[in-house]
Amino acid sequence: MGAVLLATLLSACSGAERPTLVEGPEAVGNSESGEDTTASTDPDDDVDRDPIDRATDAAAAGGLGMLDEPEPITGDVIDPVGSFKAITTAAGVVTPVIGQTAEGYVVQSPCGFERLVSWGQPVGDVQVVLDAGHGGIERGAETDEMAEADLNLRVVRRTASELNDRGIAVVLSRTGDYRMPVIQRTFLADHVEAELLVSVHHNTPAVNPSPTPGTEMYVQNGSTDSRRLGGLIYEEVVEALAEFDVEWVSRSDAGVLAVLNDEGADAYGINRRPTVPSVLAELAYLGNPKEAALLATDDYADAMAAALADGIERYLTTQDPGSGFVEQARSFSPSGDTGGEEGCIDPVLE
Ligand SMILES: [Zn+2]
Repeated sequence: MGAVLLATLLSACSGAERPTLVEGPEAVGNSESGEDTTASTDPDDDVDRDPIDRATDAAAAGGLGMLDEPEPITGDVIDPVGSFKAITTAAGVVTPVIGQTAEGYVVQSPCGFERLVSWGQPVGDVQVVLDAGHGGIERGAETDEMAEADLNLRVVRRTASELNDRGIAVVLSRTGDYRMPVIQRTFLADHVEAELLVSVHHNTPAVNPSPTPGTEMYVQNGSTDSRRLGGLIYEEVVEALAEFDVEWVSRSDAGVLAVLNDEGADAYGINRRPTVPSVLAELAYLGNPKEAALLATDDYADAMAAALADGIERYLTTQDPGSGFVEQARSFSPSGDTGGEEGCIDPVLE
């Protein structure tokens, strides 16, 4: 199937008025935007481009089950908004609904294309959007045994289950191993008018040995809600990690903090873009071999799911302030090589 798909993709390379798909991982890291492309480990810088009206797009093959560029949507749009804010498609992909025709829902795909799907399970009112960082060819931090993209998803799935059990309405931004630019993750959270967005990550490279975990919560600069959410999740995560006997690593300024780029804006798109309060949670260091062994265990995933759910539930149901705040913002300008839209290929939706 891969070869057939690739041939299809390559044969589709024509015309500038529609997205052009080109195979090859070299497309990632393309710096047409002029952004700094200095290598960086993490996470989620993105490029300011309209997700719908893209003139060109270079695609890197992301594995089986990926879609070709979309056909133009035909037929009258009978509802420019759609009956639901989002649906889960037959293939299990959560997509914002941006319209409806007689043939089905017009959705915004993980890569930001408008696509028509014939059926979807409506997503009801959403309180929480959980975001598993990275995905597809963007693996995030990696060891020989494990990729951050997969670990993030495992933790997020368990957290969603935990929140569901508590009656808190949650949806995942990324439900499988496919790419999803940051702008689409935050669009979903805003589109469904969630109360909060939490993006789960694991850090690298290993830094200094520490008696306590190097957990970091990146919060939106100037947002008291984001700050409180980050402080509550931090409190729960650090307490849960204290149960494990591990040689941790940590930066000296680890905690709950804003990370600002050289223009003074939130450095990470997951913080900068959404209207809803968001937190980027770097739970622990996958880049530290001592921690990586722990991170591979079910005990770890279960502990983090409970801790994240506890922090989120306290945010929603109490006025607790949280803790772990670092007043001094960190300065960091991410590279443009991850979290953007260049080279994005959609997963099969149905
Ligand atoms: Zn990450």
